[in-house]
Amino acid sequence: MAEATVVPVKKKRPAEAEPAGPGAPTVPFLLDFYPLEREDQTRLAAFYAALREGRLTTTRCRRDGALHWPPRTVCPKCHEDAVDWVDLPTQGRIYAFSAVLAGAPLGMEAEVPFVVGLVDLDGAPLRLFGRIEGSAWAEVRIGQTVRVETYTIADGRVFYRFRTVRAEGPAAAVRPSEGYL
Ligand SMILES: [Zn+2]
Repeated sequence: MAEATVVPVKKKRPAEAEPAGPGAPTVPFLLDFYPLEREDQTRLAAFYAALREGRLTTTRCRRDGALHWPPRTVCPKCHEDAVDWVDLPTQGRIYAFSAVLAGAPLGMEAEVPFVVGLVDLDGAPLRLFGRIEGSAWAEVRIGQTVRVETYTIADGRVFYRFRTVRAEGPAAAVRPSEGYL
């Protein structure tokens, strides 16, 4: 009597989990927190090009002057598609924050604990969400000053985040509104 042969089943990984290149994230596309950035992928490629130069920018409607966040290809207020790119202030204050101590999103497990929050930019009527670096999570405070910084993720894409400014140092000058309001 022949013995039954057990053939191991090879599990195939889903195509979207295959890394796109060296250093590329291996999380499924829908769980990739970083957007498509190239000119052939988005009409907002100028936003990422500016981030590569260390500048955080957004769009302003040429017709009614509305300042958008996130940047837009069309003004959501008047539907004008002529928009200008403007630099945003480089500093702000923490409006609210949360520390991620467990249950981090896929691909971010090694970064726990980390802080995310909402930041009111100094001199611009915009409240931005982002990672907050620079302080242990238990030392982060509402109202704390942060500065904007840009950084490159493992696969070469760029993004922005905030970094706390030391409270004991001299208070950094608040940039004037420069016509954002
Ligand atoms: Zn408009």
